[in-house]
Order: sequence, then C-alpha cells, then structure tokens
Amino acid sequence: MKVFEKKIWLATPTMHGDEMKYITEAYETNWMSTVGQNINEVERIAAEKAEMKYAVALSSCTAALHLCVKAAGERLYGKPAISHGALEGKRVFCSDMTFDATLNPVVYEGGIPVFIDTEKESWNMDPVALEKAFEIYPDVKLVVCAELYGFLGKIDVIKQICEKHGALLIEDAAEAMGAALNGKQCGSFGDYSAISYNGNKIITGSSGGCLLTNDIEVANKARKWSTQARENAPWYQHEEVGYNYRMSNVVAGVVRGQYPYLEEHIAQKKAIYDRYCEGFKDLPVQMNPIIDNSQPNYWLSAMIIDKDYMCKQVRDDSTALYIPEKGKTCPTQILETLAACNAEGRPIWKPMHMQPMYRMHEFITQTGSGRAKTNAYIAGGVGDVGADIFDRGLCLPSDNKMTAEEQDKVIEIVRSCF
Ligand SMILES: *Cc1c(COP(=O)(O)O)cnc(C)c1O
Repeated sequence: MKVFEKKIWLATPTMHGDEMKYITEAYETNWMSTVGQNINEVERIAAEKAEMKYAVALSSCTAALHLCVKAAGERLYGKPAISHGALEGKRVFCSDMTFDATLNPVVYEGGIPVFIDTEKESWNMDPVALEKAFEIYPDVKLVVCAELYGFLGKIDVIKQICEKHGALLIEDAAEAMGAALNGKQCGSFGDYSAISYNGNKIITGSSGGCLLTNDIEVANKARKWSTQARENAPWYQHEEVGYNYRMSNVVAGVVRGQYPYLEEHIAQKKAIYDRYCEGFKDLPVQMNPIIDNSQPNYWLSAMIIDKDYMCKQVRDDSTALYIPEKGKTCPTQILETLAACNAEGRPIWKPMHMQPMYRMHEFITQTGSGRAKTNAYIAGGVGDVGADIFDRGLCLPSDNKMTAEEQDKVIEIVRSCF
C-alpha cells in the first residue's frame, strides 16, 4: 500500500544556499573551530530575534538547558562542592508533556523533577496545577517550562506565578523559535531560556542551540563553562568544572544562513496546519489549540481524536495494540497506516510522569499531588490531562517541503482510518 514513492517526513532540514556561503567562508579563512565570525553573528541575531540582551551559542539546546539550570542553581543555592550538582536534592517544577531533554539537565545537577500537568486548552504547562504545586511545596525556587510543538501556553501567567513565589523560570523554547505571545517572542519569558537548531526544528544548524538571558554575568559564565571553564591566566588554570559545549563556527555558518528564512518557514508550517484544519473540519478531531493573543510558529501539526471516536487501544512500555472498529480509530492505527503508505507521523511526547525512569517522582494536577503512575493504571485516570492527550493524540507529517498534493493524500489516509 506504498502510496508515496518519496517518503513524507515529519520535519526535515530545508537549506537555501546561504548556509554554504558561510561554511565556505569559515573554511577559506580557516576559522574551523569554536571561534569565528559565524558564531558572533549567530549570537547577535539570536539575541535580537528573541528580544533578549545576550545569546551564547552552544553545541545543542540540551547543553544550553544544562547551563541555564547550573546558573539558576548557583544563583539560588550558591556554588556547590566540586563533586555535587547545583540543585542537589532540590525539587524543581517541570513540564510533564515534553521531550525529556527539557528536564534531563535538572537531573544532571542533582535536582528532583516534580511534574506539573498539562492544560487542556493549550497542551502546555497548566498554571492552575503550578499554583497547586507551590501550595504543596512553597520552598521550590525553580520552574522549567517547555513550549509544545511551537504552540503556546500561558507562559506569561507562568512567569507571573514564578515571580509571585520568588522562583526563577527557565524557558525551553526549543520548539518555539519565532513564536510569540502578546507580541512578545518565545525565549524572552524565562530568566534563562534555550533555543534549538537541531536538524528537525523550524530552522537548523544540523545541531546547536543558544542560551538566552538579559543577565550579562550569566552570559559570561555560560561562555566560560562551555569552553572548559578556563580562568584568565597564562596557563590552564581551573577553579570550577567546565564543559565542551561551545558551538562550532561551521555549524554557526549553517545557522547564520538559516535565520533569514525563519519567517518563510513559519509561513510554510502555517499553511500545512491550515490545510489540515480544512481537511479534517468534519472529522471528530481537534488540531493543536491556539490560545488568544498567541502567534504560534506551527512547527508540528498535531491532532487529538474525540473520546467517543477512539477505538480500543492499549500501550505498554514498548508495544501498542488496537482493535479496529468502523467509524472509530486511534493514534496507533493512524501512525501504522501512515507508515505503511511511506509517511512519517509521531506519537505525542509521552508524559514524563509515565516514564519508567520517573515512576517514583511526584506529579501534580489541578486537584493535587500523587506519585507518578504506570501506564496501565493511568488509562482513564481522572485529572491527568497529559496522559489523555498522549492516549488520543499524534503528530502529523509537517515537513515544509511536502507539496499540497502530497498533503491532500496524507489527509485522505487519515480520513480512511475512521
Ligand atoms: C529538541 C528539543 C530539545 C533538545 O534540543 P537539542 O538541540 O537537540 O539538544 C529540548 N527540548 C525540547 C522541547 C525539544 O523539542
């Protein structure tokens, strides 16, 4: 049933030519290291686009998040002993329905993630659940919040809640570059924020990321930490642990060449989203929600199936089964059907509180706290919005090089599953 000769991807890099010019420039001038004009330009452009004073170019967004967490930990709790993390034993409120890279760095630094449930209206961190979390743990001083698929939650409200409780906010804007809320750019809400140039993001450097902040001391520290934390001395002098996290000037050439096309990519992603909305308007499904005054970057189009139109679907830790039923479907059936036609979809991020690694961690919903639970227990669980969206949702092929005709076929395939 291979419908597409050429595979339809979820999201792939889209190059324009300028990237090669800047890579070549790096090559010809021999700035083939982690120093050079491309890096300087990426930092200037990234800060300007995200409306933050400083950007530090790094090898990945995960590295950026790590340095955000380390900076926050040291500001909140002081410099840790050499073999300790900056958040040793401290609880940190984290987005639950996200990529695990959002909060892995919390664990690198010895912190304990406490997961905050997702809000129905936005599919992002629920401010009501976050308030509940501060009620239960008033001494928590750090929140790590991700924006999902380039569609916004109430990050402004989350920021206010953090300020009210004297907590710092780290914004993981990896998926949301170029998106805005009330005209304010994603990446500018956090005390420290991170963006990603990973290969499938809205623009790419093949890899890479930036830490964003208005605090010059943090920017300087991040730059130092990312280059093995050398002190200013004639020899290799070290007072603290460092990392090899700096962006390469070659990668920076790709990023530099991509930035002028950010708006074009957003327009293409929006056209894809709009076409799905139109193609599914009479189906019992809902596309990614767009909240008032928000301007998504439409990175990944995703949908959830209405409860009454879900066929039976069961997932354990590695497999998924479903029972086909006329007029009904489920993410597993749609993803398998797309794959059989040579098109790539993806499940919604499996919530962190459902991950085996975090089974003993706390998970806080609007109605209170509980231990994270196993998959089987959660099915039909009350007040667990993330588990429900994971159960009924999926990401659709959202590659900006997909043609309208190809997308029409994708829409037809999804419709055929009902
Ligand atoms: C992609 C992604 C990251 C990690 O970005 P890298 O640059 O690959 O390290 C972090 N958080 C979220 C939400 C992401 O989607």
